[in-house]
Amino acid sequence: MCPANMYPHDLQLYQNVPHEVISLNELQEISEMRLKVLCLVERIHLQKLTMTVSQRKAALVEVLRKEGLNEFARLIDSPGCKFHSDKCNTRTCNIYIRRRDHISHFVLRSAFAFNVFKKRWFFKQETRLFKWRSSSLDNKGIRQFIQINNFKFELISESEKKDIKEYLQMSSSCTSDINNIQFYKVPFSDIASLIKKRKVFVMQGEAFVPEQEMIFVFTSHFKRSLISSFEMAREYRANLYADERFTRIFINLEKNIHVENTILVQEQEIQQYVSLDQLDMLAETSYPLCMRVLHKALKKNHHLTHGGRIQYCLFLKGIGLSLSDVMTFWKDEFTKVMNDAVFNKEHSYTIRFVFGQEGSRRDYQPYRCQRIIESSIVGPRDYHGCPFKHMLHGILEDELTNCGFNTLERSAIISLSKDGQYSAACNKYYEIKHNCLNNTLFEHPNTYFNESVKYRTLYHGEIYFIILCVSFTCILFKI
Ligand code: SF4
Repeated sequence: MCPANMYPHDLQLYQNVPHEVISLNELQEISEMRLKVLCLVERIHLQKLTMTVSQRKAALVEVLRKEGLNEFARLIDSPGCKFHSDKCNTRTCNIYIRRRDHISHFVLRSAFAFNVFKKRWFFKQETRLFKWRSSSLDNKGIRQFIQINNFKFELISESEKKDIKEYLQMSSSCTSDINNIQFYKVPFSDIASLIKKRKVFVMQGEAFVPEQEMIFVFTSHFKRSLISSFEMAREYRANLYADERFTRIFINLEKNIHVENTILVQEQEIQQYVSLDQLDMLAETSYPLCMRVLHKALKKNHHLTHGGRIQYCLFLKGIGLSLSDVMTFWKDEFTKVMNDAVFNKEHSYTIRFVFGQEGSRRDYQPYRCQRIIESSIVGPRDYHGCPFKHMLHGILEDELTNCGFNTLERSAIISLSKDGQYSAACNKYYEIKHNCLNNTLFEHPNTYFNESVKYRTLYHGEIYFIILCVSFTCILFKI
């Protein structure tokens, strides 16, 4: 088939095995390049947990350009088929780049297909990469992708839209210009992620998905297709066992990925398994000061005022505690000073609200530092806000003493705090707590927590018991 027909779009589902002539040098070059891209995807994912998909994609494109990986940067940032051309003579032509994208994906798929941890790692990074890439598509690119991949999703007519407009408006996040949005009918089983977040209207087994949200449908299709492709990839690799040239490339790729470390520091996995009985220890070791203060106040007074309840509850949600765990935690403390009935009547609603189970049912996100620093209204009975901004300096000094900081350390932090450099003070607090240098200021309490857990896991092996809950085999693998 002519390359222009094989690669009509910058985004691919990689469903067909490449059958092309390629030199071994190029094969090796593009496979190593893709591996580098996937490692960057993982790094950005871990560092920018609180960013949106398109912000992470923008961060990836920036790093790729800095690293000279321009062809990937261009594909990832592409709106669709805008740069399509039937001719392909140069290394900058999109057909040439799409072909290399296609082949490199297959080489890595085969290289990692035999190792369960590497396969899982590859699956996660490829899925992230695909999702970030999809977020670049414009409406035309989305339509072309649907057409090229023969998806049978039907656009709803104007009259149908009019009949259910009220429901579409309620369920869609882009309510303001709903008249200009196209909606597709998609079997609801294809779009579980949006249904779970209550972002689409479902009727008679079909979800009505706004055009720009179709990337979630594509990603869910990509994941299913990738999972089912590994068996075939193992077969292809097995067929090449006797060919030393390929075996060398596969072994090199496998050697260059150290999944044992990356598995251990996957925040999502860590988050999912933080348990209530670890909170006291984590408050000491890995909470930023704002959350440590709230945790201590709750334990001491068995109560927090409204601002503190919301700020701390959202943080706990962000580190991966479930609604029922947070409810248990809160109830255990509050019912030391009130009875069950009062707690259920006056406080359980707030917790369910934060988890999107009451009121507007929004998926509220943990507060960023900027929000905490600039918008917290803090009175004398309150413990929320950012201690580096809102705490009286005498009390801040006592807190730092309580953390075990010496006079010099305390005065370095307090001087930054007096100077209005709250993030720098927080960073100094982190550096002293972890006995390390940290170049990037924290913008989010949950990023602080994730970085701390990651650091202690990698350099001190302190949090292994959390991972133990994730998968005993991970520990075995690490050892
Ligand atoms: S700078 Fe952010 S993370 Fe640090 S204490 Fe203040 S609000 Fe918390």
